[in-house]
Amino acid sequence: MSSKKTGLNKTQLRRMRGDLLERQHWLLNESRGKMDGPEVDDTHGDEADLANSALHTELAIDARARESREIQLVTGALQKMDRGTYGQCSECRDPIPVARLKALPFAEYCIDCQEELEREGAFAQQGDEIRFLD
Ligand SMILES: [Zn+2]
Repeated sequence: MSSKKTGLNKTQLRRMRGDLLERQHWLLNESRGKMDGPEVDDTHGDEADLANSALHTELAIDARARESREIQLVTGALQKMDRGTYGQCSECRDPIPVARLKALPFAEYCIDCQEELEREGAFAQQGDEIRFLD
């Protein structure tokens, strides 16, 4: 009981996976629906272009950017589940606390590392893509 153990048990993990799959499905449908509109085409995905377009359709773009970032995160989390590394900090390899995973099922890092990385500016500003380290 005293040693640090991986936070999630199998049942929790399965439930989490279900939630993530559902979320991923929803997000993919959501962004596909929006792509039908006469908005920005995604093919050149340039951040500067996105920023410029955001001036014109900022709300839509903002939502799109957040969604595509979330899709990446959710997909990354699902990949980690497949690899059996879900719930493990990508930086220090410590288990991410269950409470954190419940609040943020696609958390990549433990709170310490997240804060550290944010301080170092590893994450670009809001709306930017978060790149996976592995
Ligand atoms: Zn960490």
